Amino acid sequence: MPHEVLALLNRPSGDAAAHDANAPAFTFTDAATPQVSVLDLGVSRGDGIFETISVGHGKPQALEHHLQRFARSAAILDLPAPDLDVWRQAILAAIDELEPGAESWVKTVMTRGIEGDGRPTGWVYAAQSADFSRARAEGVSVVLLDRGYRHDVEQTSPWLLQGAKSLSYAVNRAVLREASRRGADDVVFVSSDGFVLEGPTSSVVYRRGDAIYSPGTGIGILDGTTQANVFRYAESLGLSTGFELLTPQQLAESDAIWLVSSVRLAVPVRAVDGADRRIDAEFTASLNDWLKAVFV
Ligand code: PLP
Repeated sequence: MPHEVLALLNRPSGDAAAHDANAPAFTFTDAATPQVSVLDLGVSRGDGIFETISVGHGKPQALEHHLQRFARSAAILDLPAPDLDVWRQAILAAIDELEPGAESWVKTVMTRGIEGDGRPTGWVYAAQSADFSRARAEGVSVVLLDRGYRHDVEQTSPWLLQGAKSLSYAVNRAVLREASRRGADDVVFVSSDGFVLEGPTSSVVYRRGDAIYSPGTGIGILDGTTQANVFRYAESLGLSTGFELLTPQQLAESDAIWLVSSVRLAVPVRAVDGADRRIDAEFTASLNDWLKAVFV
């Protein structure tokens, strides 16, 4: 069985006029062969959306949450609404084609398509995951970087697309290079008015006493599928959970911090801006075991 799988969607959006209704919903094709036009706006302008979904034991994790977020991102970008039944079918079929057992991931991409054509481009790509055991066990060091937007940017300036999972991740990669220049592994964004936001590919979760918190949505950050499952895990242990706006100072005063995301799952934060922090290795290991086995 292959290590990577690619399905091209023939009907990525529910707009019947834009697609051939008789075409199969998707077609498997060779992942090693180029498939996207150089004129595709996803390529030339990063104009599109994506999701990255963990696969464990041959099943996608938090699939419905990911699909809802995909649809919400499309709405924020004024893209045609994705046909979620078609996407769900393609995701499950791609996973079925993949070598079973190993931790894997599926990426869904929908772009605005070729300029002037009016039809979105869509594909589902699935592959085996890298080994994240070291980061999960030993943690990551982070630096706090100013994102340059206020925490209420989503309300004041929706055209900046904060809160959507758009393809424009050049900034999210640039900040990792800045982290590396500062001798750190990862980043936590802070709003220009001084509130903790999220990582470039992760949500921030932290523990204070018997409660687990996250900065929450509506502040220009993603509605994290892993964060939602971390809360489920915490609640199953009798811990309380909640969302709050917090400052870097309050984050520093918390008992433990994690960056959580699909695929890499929960990694403890072992230093912030050069200040070492204690990590809770035992809790993190149990949390990751639970996350690997959960499918909501
Ligand atoms: N925030 C950003 C900016 C992300 O890119 C991601 C995931 O890639 C997340 C948060 C975490 O989301 P999830 O847990 O659904 O993967």
